[in-house]
Amino acid sequence: MSSIGEEREGLQDRQTAKLSRLIESLADANSFFSPRLAQAGLLKGAAFSLDAFRRLTPTTKQELLADQEAAPPYGTNLTFPIAHYTRLHQTSGTKGKPLRWLDTAESWQWMLDCWRQIFEKIGVQKGDRLFFPFSFGPFLGFWTAFEAAGQLGCLCLAAGGMSSAARLHMLLDNRAQVMLCTPTYALHLAQTAAECKIPIEGVLQKIVVAGEPGGSIPATRRWIESAWGARLFDHSGMTEIGPMTFECLEHPGGLHVLEDDYFVEIVDPETLEAGAPGALGELLVTNLGRIGSPLLRYRTGDLVRAATSPCACGSPFIRLEGGILGRTDDMVAIRGNNFFPSALENVLRRFSEVLEYRVRVDRTSPLAELQIEIECVPEQHGEEIAGRIAAVIRDELYFRADVKLAAVGSLPRFEMKARRIMVDS
Ligand SMILES: [Zn+2]
Repeated sequence: MSSIGEEREGLQDRQTAKLSRLIESLADANSFFSPRLAQAGLLKGAAFSLDAFRRLTPTTKQELLADQEAAPPYGTNLTFPIAHYTRLHQTSGTKGKPLRWLDTAESWQWMLDCWRQIFEKIGVQKGDRLFFPFSFGPFLGFWTAFEAAGQLGCLCLAAGGMSSAARLHMLLDNRAQVMLCTPTYALHLAQTAAECKIPIEGVLQKIVVAGEPGGSIPATRRWIESAWGARLFDHSGMTEIGPMTFECLEHPGGLHVLEDDYFVEIVDPETLEAGAPGALGELLVTNLGRIGSPLLRYRTGDLVRAATSPCACGSPFIRLEGGILGRTDDMVAIRGNNFFPSALENVLRRFSEVLEYRVRVDRTSPLAELQIEIECVPEQHGEEIAGRIAAVIRDELYFRADVKLAAVGSLPRFEMKARRIMVDS
C-alpha cells in the first residue's frame, strides 16, 4: 500500500497534467482567459509551468459580472461557440446582480461525476431513496446532485413547490433514507414535524446539507442530527465553480476538496500570497473539468484553514478544518471586535427553544450595536432564554447584544441562502 505522501505526489502529477491540458484548450479559444494567460506567459504549445500558473492574476466575481455587463448576456468566458451549450444556471444574487453561467453537456457531466465521487465517499449507493425538499430553479443548487444520483441508480424524489407538512408526508410515504437541503431547511422541517406531531427521529439515515455554512457549525449540526436521528454530511459548492467538497465518514466537521477535479490554493486575502500551512486564508479555486466555462484561480471569498495532519479516512485530499469558516465579506465589526456570523449562529443554535432569529447591526450610532430578535417555541419562557443568550454572547464573543423576543411566525423562513444578518450603516 502506498503512503499518503506518495498518493499526494501522484495526485499533484495528475493535477499538473490536467492544468496543462486546460490551458492548452483555453489559450486561443476562450476570449476571457486568453489575454490573462498570455500575460502570465502561458501560451498554446509551450511547456506548462506551475510557477507561471501561480502568477496568473486571480479572477474575481466583480470581473465576471462586469464582463457579462459589457458583453451581454453571457460575457466572454466561453470556450466554444454558443450552440455547444445546453444548460444555463445563475447565482442566487444574494449580494447584487446574479451571474449567469452556461455549461456544455461535457462540463455538466463532469459536475455529475464530482457528485458521483461525493456519494461514494458518504456511502450513498444504488437503490437508495433520496429526498430533495428544494424548489428547483435557475440556481444550480441540487440539480447536479439530483441527476448524478439518478445516474448512480438512486430513486430521486423532487419535493419542490409544496408546503413543509406536505413534504414531510412525502418523505415518510416514500421511505426516503437520504435528504439533501440547506441546513436551515433541515431545521425548519424538523420544527414543522414537531408542531404537526409527525415523528421523524430515525426515519432518515443521512442528511446532506449545502448552500450555507451551518453544516460545519457545531451547534447547528448537533441540533439537526439530534432532531432527525441521522448523520449529517456537510458539502460546499458554487454555481460558477461546481460541487467541490465532501465530508468523510471518519472526520465530521471538515470538508475534503475533490482535488482530482479542483486545484485549490489558500492565500492571504490582502496580499494574495500563499500562507503558512494551516493558516486561515481565502480559497482560490481552479476547476479542471468545466472546460466550456472554466474558472482559473477564482477568488471564492471563502475563508478556510487546511488541516495539517493526515485524515483518519486515509484520503490524500486536502481537508478544510471546520468547513468554510467565514466569508471575506461578511465579517462584522462591533466596537473594535470582529466576528463572523457563524460564531453567533453557533451560540444561538445551542438553544433548541429558538426557532428562528434575525440580527441587526446598527452602525448609525457612533458605537455599533447588535440587536438580535429570537422566536421561541410557544410554551417556553422566552424572556428568560433571551437573557441567557445575551449572557453567553457577552461571555464568549465579548460584546453586548440586545436580545429581544419576536412573535412566533413573525421572522422570515428560508429554503435557500438564509439572510439573517442586516447591517445598517
Ligand atoms: Zn477524511
